[in-house]
Amino acid sequence: MRCRGPRFGFLATLVAATLGANASSVRAESQSASLQAIDGAEMLQHIKVLASDDFEGRSPGTRGEALTVEYLVRQFKMLGLKPGNLDGSYTQSVPILGYRSEPRATFKVGGQTIELKTPSQFVAWSYQRAPEVRVESSELVFVGYGVIAPEYGWDDYKGLDVRGKTLVMLINDPPVPDPNDPSKLDERMFGGRAMTYYGRWTYKYEMAARLGAAAAIIVHETGPAAYPYSTVVSTWAGENFSLDTQGPNPDYPNVTAWIALDQAKELFAAGGRSFEALKEGAVKKDFKPVLLGGKVTFQVHNTWRAVESHNVVARIEGSDAKLKDDLVIYTAHWDHFGWDPKLPGTKHDQIKHGAQDNASGVAALLALAKSFQALPRAPKRSVLFIAPTAEERDWLGARFYASHPLYPLRKTLADINIDMLNLWGRTRDIEIVGSGKSTLDDALASAAATQNRITKPDSHPERGSFYRVDSLFFARVGVPVLFTKAGKEFIGRPQDYGEQKVNDFIAHDYHQVTDNIKADWDLSGAIEDVRLLFDVGRALAEGNEYPQWKPGAEFKAIRDQTMGSTPR
Ligand SMILES: [Zn+2]
Repeated sequence: MRCRGPRFGFLATLVAATLGANASSVRAESQSASLQAIDGAEMLQHIKVLASDDFEGRSPGTRGEALTVEYLVRQFKMLGLKPGNLDGSYTQSVPILGYRSEPRATFKVGGQTIELKTPSQFVAWSYQRAPEVRVESSELVFVGYGVIAPEYGWDDYKGLDVRGKTLVMLINDPPVPDPNDPSKLDERMFGGRAMTYYGRWTYKYEMAARLGAAAAIIVHETGPAAYPYSTVVSTWAGENFSLDTQGPNPDYPNVTAWIALDQAKELFAAGGRSFEALKEGAVKKDFKPVLLGGKVTFQVHNTWRAVESHNVVARIEGSDAKLKDDLVIYTAHWDHFGWDPKLPGTKHDQIKHGAQDNASGVAALLALAKSFQALPRAPKRSVLFIAPTAEERDWLGARFYASHPLYPLRKTLADINIDMLNLWGRTRDIEIVGSGKSTLDDALASAAATQNRITKPDSHPERGSFYRVDSLFFARVGVPVLFTKAGKEFIGRPQDYGEQKVNDFIAHDYHQVTDNIKADWDLSGAIEDVRLLFDVGRALAEGNEYPQWKPGAEFKAIRDQTMGSTPR
């Protein structure tokens, strides 16, 4: 329940009179009361429920979803939050289609006909709701990394009309060498060692769709992709999920594919081209698309099913009449991979519980809601809490919100995303994933200073984590985002403790049935991290400034466009 001012009016006046000019310490105290609402035992209790066998791994469209959504709605109601949806409900329906595609690919290059095997040599799928999708004799064109990045003066297409063509592209950012030391990457181009959005497959397929290409084929290479070809197979050769867009999917061309490296080399060679030579040319600004001297026909046999899923949405209304239409968003995805009864063992052994990924983040979301409700008055601006669905299925819940926002994006100050808490104790530092992109970094740094802690850039920027979480879809529509991960300097632990813990998790538990609550969990660090996120969100909701993308951030242009159309 919320402690309201008027009831304690007399007392407040007395306190204010006694303290005189010291009103700020009253404020500090009430803020600390609301920080106390972020409690480790309570967060652990939420994780226990969400990661229980009963919740069956929280797969979208299953009984696990029904229980999860019901639990979250009940919690938000108990905390006194308003429905996040203007239709008066605490959910936003997300229409999802699950596709199974059986592809055939026939290449005619340099007088040869080459039929590739799936999934060992290529994987292809289509998000068209048609039983038979065909791309007929489409011209193959190599477009290097397939990037148009005005801030780097980069354009791999050079104005070529690629409508109806099939784009063959390389994965990751163009690895532009440093002109002064070619053994290193140029730090001024595409983030140097860090991956930018231009390096992600999502971006490559989007560009193909936007430019009207019929199909897009990404050449798989283990190093630049950061995973082996077997991951491509396990990720895309089964059921693929997309939003039910009622028409062409704006994020994908008709047919979307990956090809194994050896087969790509073979195709290039058949057309009299060297893959290695073309790849070398693709790291230069003056690269031009190259016709590969051949055509491809794709035939994709599709079956699909509809899955009705839900984002959970709850809102705290701003207390300032002029500012309450502005809002700060917190997100933490509720879904995970569900229950597979074909796995050996008991039901418990067959469930991917997703305790850390992302029951922990959802627990933080509830703690944040409670903390805001514990403030003596609501912040000036509104705060929206979203638990998106289907993050594990191509971020469909966040994608859907971004394309069907419940509140205007130009009034949305920021998205603060939580995906997996630090569960191993207190740290001196906290890492900013995608640091250097927006002024939210500075807001977090000043919050961290109040805890005598420091912020650091992501220790593994090459993993491209910024582009693998829900907040990306807010960034893509211009909303500044903050996504943090556990610090590495654990207090009272050896120097490599944090790195070890993360590596152990990735090796043994990540997306496995063993992502359970562990005996050695220590939420003291999580509490501090979540309090920082509270401080940042509260400062935004109370402050005078909109956060900004910094120059060079790939999402600045879209934000400027959105905000510029209606000057504020
Ligand atoms: Zn995950």
